[in-house]
Amino acid sequence: MDQTVILKNVRPWGESATDVVIGEGRIAAVAPAAATIEAQSIDGRGAILLPGLVEAHTHLDKTLYGMPWNRNSVPSNLVAKITNERNSKKRIGLDPARQSARQVALSVGHGTTHIRSHVDVDTEHGLAGVHGVMATREKYADVVDIEIVAFPQSGMLIREGTKELMDEALSLGADVVGGLDPCSMDLDPKGHLDVVFALAEKHGKPIDIHLHEPGELGAFTTRLIIERTRAHAMGGKVTISHAFCLGHNDYLAIGRLLEQLAETGIAIMTTGPADYACPPLIRTLDAGVTVCSGSDGIRDCWGPYGNATCSSAPCSSACATTSIATTTSFGPSRWSPPAARLCSAWKATGSRLATWPTSC
Ligand SMILES: [Zn+2]
Repeated sequence: MDQTVILKNVRPWGESATDVVIGEGRIAAVAPAAATIEAQSIDGRGAILLPGLVEAHTHLDKTLYGMPWNRNSVPSNLVAKITNERNSKKRIGLDPARQSARQVALSVGHGTTHIRSHVDVDTEHGLAGVHGVMATREKYADVVDIEIVAFPQSGMLIREGTKELMDEALSLGADVVGGLDPCSMDLDPKGHLDVVFALAEKHGKPIDIHLHEPGELGAFTTRLIIERTRAHAMGGKVTISHAFCLGHNDYLAIGRLLEQLAETGIAIMTTGPADYACPPLIRTLDAGVTVCSGSDGIRDCWGPYGNATCSSAPCSSACATTSIATTTSFGPSRWSPPAARLCSAWKATGSRLATWPTSC
């Protein structure tokens, strides 16, 4: 963006209305712009102006957005849903490149400029998802940063050949090592974490583990992840997604876990589900834990909902307010006081929203 553009009548972080002058792709001034400046101007009509939103957890490779209606009548347990999805992909002709591009276009249209996408790696579909999302990443590189997590959705150790595919995905250009329910999926937490941390060490990549395990089982796995993170000196490079176990009803035990997560530098991603116990947002933030949020699957074989709108989530879910705690760097973001203030103002006034690329 070489030309000068003036965003007129916008409210940075919800503050007073002003003009923002953008030159050479960066913010050059935040002040009422002289009418004499020769530039294209856009009327913001009093919208709140924010940095680009961060979609910290989604699955670009398997959205059904734009595809014909898919009747979904599988039982609601995790393994049945995973098996159904693996089988359905071929039956309905899901093309990861086309589908990820559709969701990215939708996200960008709603102000998202950074996306972390978990992408399935399994022995049936191989690296088709990774190749597809990599193509989309390249196609939209000028408007959005896409981080790819190599994700063993169907299990790591229970499907022979998966860890080799994970290794290959990371060599190809995946950015993060994924993991999934080390106890309940692989039935071997030590073996699962051995592979995840060894891949992270080999490729010099961060880690993001889906942890649906509830209650004491999830707390046990969380303690194992904390222990590994300390041993590998990976503080600041490990995220636990969902961490439903932090929502269980043991105040003192959760407090100890939160302290250890903060001390070790492990981030928590929550989608703020309305129908399931999840991490207590305020308490987690007060403990000093980095928190981020995401949409998870958008209109996929798991469910028909989602519109890739980070900015509307805060209005319907207190937990998802972390979506707007965007930062100027890519990755899980800290909830910041300005963002907290902004969210209150936003909800109170029903304000419209405008965003700018975080590279500004
Ligand atoms: Zn997920």
